[in-house]
Amino acid sequence: MSGGPKYEYKWADGEKFKKPASLPAHEYITHLMEWVEKQINNEDVFPSNPGVPFPKTYQGICKKILTRLFRVFVHVYIHHFDKIVSIGAEAHVNTCYKHFYYFVRTFKLVDPKEIEPLREMSEKICK
Ligand SMILES: [Zn+2]
Repeated sequence: MSGGPKYEYKWADGEKFKKPASLPAHEYITHLMEWVEKQINNEDVFPSNPGVPFPKTYQGICKKILTRLFRVFVHVYIHHFDKIVSIGAEAHVNTCYKHFYYFVRTFKLVDPKEIEPLREMSEKICK
């Protein structure tokens, strides 16, 4: 999945894709959403019983989930922004992005180097 001329995201999940694989964006995103669903439905990672503690790996897994989801914003903004504007969804996508951006920056859940492809835009729209 491309994130512009300088960034390519390869998919690996440690199961079906043990080595990072170059995939078209729609396949990368399909695998990503299935992987996220699997994580959030995993009781060992996200226990649903109030008495069950979260695992030590919890924050690391959350960071990985959010980092991978951030890459979808990168792809959409860099490759599909014209389409978003043409359907009048720009304000909605920007609002969604801002919520995501403020959350991950406030709690330091996505490494700044991952944000680099959208740094300039983020500086403009997220004040
Ligand atoms: Zn695309």
